[in-house]
Amino acid sequence: MSDLSDANVAGWNLEATYAELPSPFFSAVLPTPVARPEVVILNEDLGRELGLDWRAISRDEAASIFSGNKLPVGAKPIAQAYAGHQFGGFTMLGDGRAILIGEQRSPSGKLYDIQLKGSGPTKYSRRGDGRAAVGPMLREYIISEAMHFLGIPTTRSLAVVSTGEPVYRDEALPGAVLTRVASSHIRVGTFQYFAAIRDDLGLRTLADYTINRHYPDLMESQDRYIDLLKTVIDRQASLISQWMRVGFVHGVMNTDNVAISGESIDFGPCAFLDRYHPNTVFSSIDHGGRYAFGNQPSICHWNLVRFAETLLPLIHEQESEAIRIATEILEGYPELYESHWIEQMGRKLGLDDADSSDKPLMDELLQWMADELLDYTTIFSQLTRGFDGAIEPFAQARFVRWYEAWQARLKRSGRSDALVKETMKNANPYVIPRNHRVEEALDAATYRNDLEPLHRLLQAIRNPYEATEHNADYATPPAPTQQVYQTFCGT
Ligand code: AMP
Ligand code: MG
Repeated sequence: MSDLSDANVAGWNLEATYAELPSPFFSAVLPTPVARPEVVILNEDLGRELGLDWRAISRDEAASIFSGNKLPVGAKPIAQAYAGHQFGGFTMLGDGRAILIGEQRSPSGKLYDIQLKGSGPTKYSRRGDGRAAVGPMLREYIISEAMHFLGIPTTRSLAVVSTGEPVYRDEALPGAVLTRVASSHIRVGTFQYFAAIRDDLGLRTLADYTINRHYPDLMESQDRYIDLLKTVIDRQASLISQWMRVGFVHGVMNTDNVAISGESIDFGPCAFLDRYHPNTVFSSIDHGGRYAFGNQPSICHWNLVRFAETLLPLIHEQESEAIRIATEILEGYPELYESHWIEQMGRKLGLDDADSSDKPLMDELLQWMADELLDYTTIFSQLTRGFDGAIEPFAQARFVRWYEAWQARLKRSGRSDALVKETMKNANPYVIPRNHRVEEALDAATYRNDLEPLHRLLQAIRNPYEATEHNADYATPPAPTQQVYQTFCGT
C-alpha cells in the first residue's frame, strides 16, 4: 500500500507489456545493488514529459531508483533476449548489462521503455561484468540528447548515477548506471534471435507485438508483415539520411544496434565529423572501416537484408515466393535512401524540391570538402549564416564556380531569400557535440569529478540551430592539437 502511494506521488505509471510475452523473449532479473549511488545528472525535462514529479523524488531517492537499488512500483525487471551480426559475424546476445525495469505510460499516452544500463549481470552477460563506466554512460547521455535537440529520432537519457564502485577496463574507472528511455528496445537482432532458434510462433508474436506497439496502422493490413518490412526500411533510410545531414558516425551499426522503431540507439564509440571525409572512422575497434561515415547507407541496407531474412516465414508460406517478395522490396532501398538523402541535402542547400538532378551539385560540394578536408558543420553553417568570399577556402576558383551554380539553382527554385535562409537554418546545425568538447566533459567528470564542462556542453547543444550566448564557444572546430581521431567503446 505504501509503495502505491509513493508511486502515485512520484508519477510512476509502469506497465510491463514485454514481460507478458512468452519466456524465450526475456529472462527475469533484478538489478545488482551498488555501494554508494550518487546522481551525476538527471534529465528533469524528460522526466516531466514522462509524467515524473521531481518534487516528490529527492536526490537520494533518484540515486536509489536510477542505480537499481530501489525499484519503482510496478517494475517488472527483465533482460531482453536478442542476437545480432557484430561486424558481420552472427552471435547470440541479449541484454548483458541492461535491465528493462518497465514501460512508463506518459501523460500523453505513449509507452516508453525505462532501461537501466550498467545495472549488473544477467543471463546474457557472457564474460562481461554487467557494469558500465561513467565516461561511456555520459557520452551516451550527451549524444542522445544532442540527437534529440537536432530533431533526429533517438532514444534518450533520463539519468546517470555513479555507483561508488570501480569498474575494471584498461584501468579502474568509476562505475555508473545510465537510465535510457526508448520507444522500445526491439532490434533487428530481436527478430534474428527468433529466426536463429527457429521459433516461428515466437517470431509471429514478436512481429505482432512490434506492429501493435510501433505501427498500429498496419494492424488492419492484409499483408502486415510485408508492410512492416517496408515501413522499417523507410524509417531506417530516413534515419541514416539524417545522420548524414549532421555528420554523425554511429560507429557500431551491428544489427543488434538497429532499433525497429527507427530511433538512433546504442551510442558507443560514436562521434560527429569535424573535417569532412566519407572514409572517417572514429571507433578504435572498427579496423576495416566497415562503419565509416560514407558506408552507413550501404551498411543500413545490409542490416535490412538481415531483417528481411528473419521475416521470410511470415511473408509467404512458400520460401521461394517469400524470397522473391522480400528481394523486390529490398531492391528498392538504394533509390529510397537516395530520395531521403537528396531531401536532407536539399534542405542544407535551401531547397525544398530537390530531386536527383540536383545530386551533382551536392556531390561536387562534398567532393570539394573532402579534397580540402574542410569542417563539415562550419562550411554549411557559413553558407547559411554568411561568409567572407575573400578568405580561404571560399576564394578558391573551384568553390566560386560551385557557388554560382548553386545560386542559379536557387533562382530557378523561385524561393525567396528569406525562405531559403530559413530552410538552411533548420537543416544546418551551428553547434554539434564536437569530439574534443565531449572528451573534455567526460575527462573532467571521470578524473576530476568536475561536472561543469558537462553542464556547459549540454546547455550548448539544446539549441543547435541557433547561435546563442551559450554556444558560440562550441561552434569552433578543434585546433589541430585538440583533434580527436579515435573513440573507444569503453564497455
Ligand atoms: P554493445 O556493444 O553495447 O551494443 O553490446 C553488445 C553486447 O555485449 C550486448 O549483448 C551487451 O549487453 C553486451 N555487453 C557489453 N558490455 C557488457 C558488459 N560490461 N557486461 C556484460 N555484457 C556486456
Ligand atoms: Mg548494443
